[in-house]
Amino acid sequence: MARDPRHDLLFEPIQLGPKVMPNRFWQTPHSIQAGSDYPGFQAGYRGMAAEGGWGAVFVESTAISVDADPLTVVRLWDAGDVRNLALTTQSIHAHGALAGVELQYGGAPINSGESRVPYLGPSQMVTDANYLSAVAEMDLEDIVLVQQLYVSAALRARDAGFDLITIFAGAAISVIAKFLIPRYNHRSDQYAGSFENRARFARETVEAVRRAVGGDCAVGMRFQLDTLPTPYGFGEDGISAAGDGHRFLTFMDDLVDYWDLNVGTLSGEGEDIAPSRTHPENHQAPYVSHAKRITTKPVVNVGRFTNPDTMASILTSGQCDIIGAARPSIADPFLPAKIRDGRLDEIRECMGCNYCISKFEFGSRVACTQNATTGEEFRRGWHPERFTQAVNSDNSVLVVGAGPAGMECAIVLGKRGMADVHLVDAGKEIGGSVRWISQLPGLNEWRRLIEYRSIQLDKLPNVETILGRRMSPTDVLEYGASIVVVATGSEWAADGRSGAHMDAVPGADARLDHVATPEQVMVEDKALGHAVTVFDSEGYYMGYSLAERIARRGHDVTLVTSHSILSPYSRLSAESARVNREIRGLGINVVIDHSLTSIEPTSITVQDVWTDKMSQIRTDSTVLVTQRYSTDSLYREVKSRPGSLVQAGITGLYRIGDCFAPSFLAEAIYSGHRLAREIDSPDPSRPLPYIRERRLLDAAEDDYRLGSLTLGPVH
Ligand code: SF4
Repeated sequence: MARDPRHDLLFEPIQLGPKVMPNRFWQTPHSIQAGSDYPGFQAGYRGMAAEGGWGAVFVESTAISVDADPLTVVRLWDAGDVRNLALTTQSIHAHGALAGVELQYGGAPINSGESRVPYLGPSQMVTDANYLSAVAEMDLEDIVLVQQLYVSAALRARDAGFDLITIFAGAAISVIAKFLIPRYNHRSDQYAGSFENRARFARETVEAVRRAVGGDCAVGMRFQLDTLPTPYGFGEDGISAAGDGHRFLTFMDDLVDYWDLNVGTLSGEGEDIAPSRTHPENHQAPYVSHAKRITTKPVVNVGRFTNPDTMASILTSGQCDIIGAARPSIADPFLPAKIRDGRLDEIRECMGCNYCISKFEFGSRVACTQNATTGEEFRRGWHPERFTQAVNSDNSVLVVGAGPAGMECAIVLGKRGMADVHLVDAGKEIGGSVRWISQLPGLNEWRRLIEYRSIQLDKLPNVETILGRRMSPTDVLEYGASIVVVATGSEWAADGRSGAHMDAVPGADARLDHVATPEQVMVEDKALGHAVTVFDSEGYYMGYSLAERIARRGHDVTLVTSHSILSPYSRLSAESARVNREIRGLGINVVIDHSLTSIEPTSITVQDVWTDKMSQIRTDSTVLVTQRYSTDSLYREVKSRPGSLVQAGITGLYRIGDCFAPSFLAEAIYSGHRLAREIDSPDPSRPLPYIRERRLLDAAEDDYRLGSLTLGPVH
């Protein structure tokens, strides 16, 4: 299909100092937890984005020296880092993209990680994000030292092959912003006080970097233009776009080749990495859209852009020149190529769930709900758009259950050329639990998980979707498929069992009128009394989402959780600040640190987890958000008939997703994808070994390739 002419301007080259970017797609710096220590992982991930058409591809924020070591970033400290990162710049250049690096020196609020060298900052202070360790206050010699560290790192970046060198001026983790923002700058010398004084450190630093590498590389800044009003930003303590934000653009404009702009504080409020639950596409526009009136240099904007019409319109309107994106590039590294080729129905749109961010906050490698291949480019050799014909492709496959795992598995099996794939579900629609989860407040965009897969399933001639058919074990055995995959999902516990309560809670029985599970509330619309208590020991979105939904329908809601804060996982997904404020703003009574000990028809008994003190909460209905159990009876019954399996010609029986172990949606999708990718392996129920980039004694390059003997068993 031909490209829509309205999108042509997205593919116009643009000059950035001495470099030409081939189009307007800019993968912004974002952590994948690969750093410079895992060069294959880093190069594989970034190279895939370049192959997918991103015209500029950045590695994550990069620590410039040993005293800027927050552990989770690329390090560019020495010749070894240069050597490792050169693999990444080569992999980016191989596809015609520019390679970018974002240099940062943290200042407060980040602890030194591995190096244990204290940070230097404009003023000695602790911050909201690091209230334990203060930075050392720079004297004038230290200022010269840190500026020289920037220069040395920029030279190393150039030597590693980077084309674009961004000096990071993010609000809470950049020493440059710390000097600029009065909240952090309590000095009394020529680097404090007036705007020009507070911006002096930035100007001297960028001038020095430019002198060193400006002829070879484009030098730009990533700047948090507005630190936002309270309660989600610094308010009067910070900077506003209309004030110091625009003044900074003017003050620095002659020194930079581009501006990469965003907003927020990067200190836990999550406004810069906002989820779809609370923020639409292009949500930063109110703050960044006037910047181009100030600067003469190309401007990058971010805003979880996935819609090419939106992208084209903000370029046309003059909001920015370049579309920046992290999450949309994670969900679909081939987003630009698909727009370029007019394959819009193949775009795997980011759904704004922020699972990727939670993985980073957890210290784990990158992963994505929508894209199972993210992070597996090098270590498993998975390509998001390429699939090999399965060795056993003459087999027919029955996939039972069209939830996330089943849909993904059927698609990948179809793309691997299996003769006949039947995806069978008892429901009237595909999507499994996501059908009702996406009806929870703010989760409408999560339907993208279904919509993308629905289109792909329709396109595959060897995959048939059969709805409204509930399969019995006999049906499965008589179906005629030679491979059976069971993806029948999970159900919430109806008896209150959880990590906090290994046994059923007395009185917790969702067969009773006054007790309900999430499915009963959302799918069966079970009647609830006026006073409703939601007990949440899961700690992610289900408890507060149900509480919000029920409260918005006029009920008095109490939300009891065994955790010490409401929804602790939301801290990792950058949703906690809004969730906590919004739930309380709705008048929901939040009770933390209490476990559920019994349910009676008109009350529940809860126990303080620290004092053991019991108390009662009057309630008409109790909703249990505790844990989920696999719906695996079909799998177990079929498996218990080995003779019948042989007789039916079934050579493989597998379970995937929640049917195997209830987990995140991302893990269900991954489980289905993994099985289909390895359906022709010796034992598809067990994952094939993947490349581990550990240090190996007496290593050869072959030790870091798939199939290496070092990945196999000793005996
Ligand atoms: Fe988007 Fe969610 Fe994937 Fe992150 S994990 S890129 S938010 S779909």
